[in-house]
Amino acid sequence: LIVLDRVCKQYGTTPVLRDCSLAVARGEIVVVCGPSGSGKSTLIKTVNGLEPYQSGSVRFDDEEVGARGTDLPRLRTRIGMVFQSFELYPHMTALRNVMLAQVHALGRSRAEARERALALLARVGLTERAEAYPADLSGGQQQRVAIARALALDPVAMLFDEPTSALDPEMINEVLDVMTALARDGMTMVVVTHEMGFARKVADRVVFMDEGRIVEDRPAAEFFAAPATERAKTFLSKII
Ligand code: ATP
Ligand code: MG
Repeated sequence: LIVLDRVCKQYGTTPVLRDCSLAVARGEIVVVCGPSGSGKSTLIKTVNGLEPYQSGSVRFDDEEVGARGTDLPRLRTRIGMVFQSFELYPHMTALRNVMLAQVHALGRSRAEARERALALLARVGLTERAEAYPADLSGGQQQRVAIARALALDPVAMLFDEPTSALDPEMINEVLDVMTALARDGMTMVVVTHEMGFARKVADRVVFMDEGRIVEDRPAAEFFAAPATERAKTFLSKII
């Protein structure tokens, strides 16, 4: 479904992605980890066209993301993205946050969008908070609204960029539980996270990045049993 082939990107003369190749099949869960600045965010943002790249190819469902003719708004309705910082619209209730893009990007009627939004808020355990504004929600609740909002466009794949790293520890699990359920339902997911418990339990593969390179891409069980590189070993010993 997602195929990166020798993708390179640099800012000025600083390389941030070096020959990154990665394939994610439908239904696969891939966790991306690595030190700060290693290029994880940049890598996943190339998939939905948020980060241009200078060479190589990024294909989503056989469509070249960086090609001139690519309809990026349409592509982004097919790939949901969830960020560290939630990015909900502060002046809208949880319900309206989940409705908005359905009406604007997919042209659904308000009634239809509302029904779908309520179903998704129920799925992330927030039926009771549908009419609350983001400021009145906890971080974990806000992130669950952000996930519901992304799911509302019926995406084919979901990208997560450190979805729990801005959360207080007691809220991390409620978000990981929603993500785990989504994975079990068969969603294709690429997740940048340092939550190695989640990676161990849910990921099919773990990708480890360092200095813009993918230095390991292995089945999760193998990666945790014995990282192949010193860099990954050091990294794991620091975060577990
Ligand atoms: P973190 O764990 O801190 O989120 P990351 O692995 O997601 O890190 P990226 O955000 O992808 O790393 O950044 C990769 C590199 O690109 C970093 O060295 C960063 O300084 C650099 N970089 C990112 N955005 C820009 C920019 N707009 N201009 C110049 N350099 C940038
Ligand atoms: Mg990042």
